[in-house]
Amino acid sequence: MRRTGLFPGSFDPVHYGHLDIAFRAAKLFDHLVIGVYASPEKKNVTFSLEERIEMVQEAVRSYSNIEVLGYSGLTVEFAKKIGASVMVRGLRVFSDFDYEFKMALANQQIRPEIETISLITHHSFMFLSSSMVKEIVANHGDPRNMIPPHVLRRFQAKFFTEKND
Ligand code: ADP
Repeated sequence: MRRTGLFPGSFDPVHYGHLDIAFRAAKLFDHLVIGVYASPEKKNVTFSLEERIEMVQEAVRSYSNIEVLGYSGLTVEFAKKIGASVMVRGLRVFSDFDYEFKMALANQQIRPEIETISLITHHSFMFLSSSMVKEIVANHGDPRNMIPPHVLRRFQAKFFTEKND
């Protein structure tokens, strides 16, 4: 039986902490879907769903068992729809635990047949987040050890070209 895992998130934008979890998770499943959440209008996202999907796709293109899909609505229902029996999350510092624990319990209530597993971050990415990357780029810092070059190019186009038009 082909085992499918789902790694869901906003990926606004994808960074090396996400990719480390994705590549490790890809070894645990026959097929890993990275689910990019189509945040509701009111949630403040920097990149559109299409941009976020494209950036993840570009980053994982050498992995033949990883697929990138956008979704909206409840993550567990998306997992069910694509036939994923396990959802993968990444855990950083302690502050993630409370949120992840509550989410996993809520999802367990809705779809008890779908398990949530958490992979512990690589220590070099333990403080890395999309919002930190945005802060660094917006202030002309160097994020090259945090995001792949194609993501940096998107940032430059968005922050330093569009705004100057
Ligand atoms: P969210 O689903 O919270 O909107 P993100 O797109 O920021 O999230 O993250 C998606 C998943 O990746 C979450 O499980 C999150 O905990 C995990 N993650 C984010 N940053 C890191 C990191 N630096 N190391 C490991 N996991 C991470």
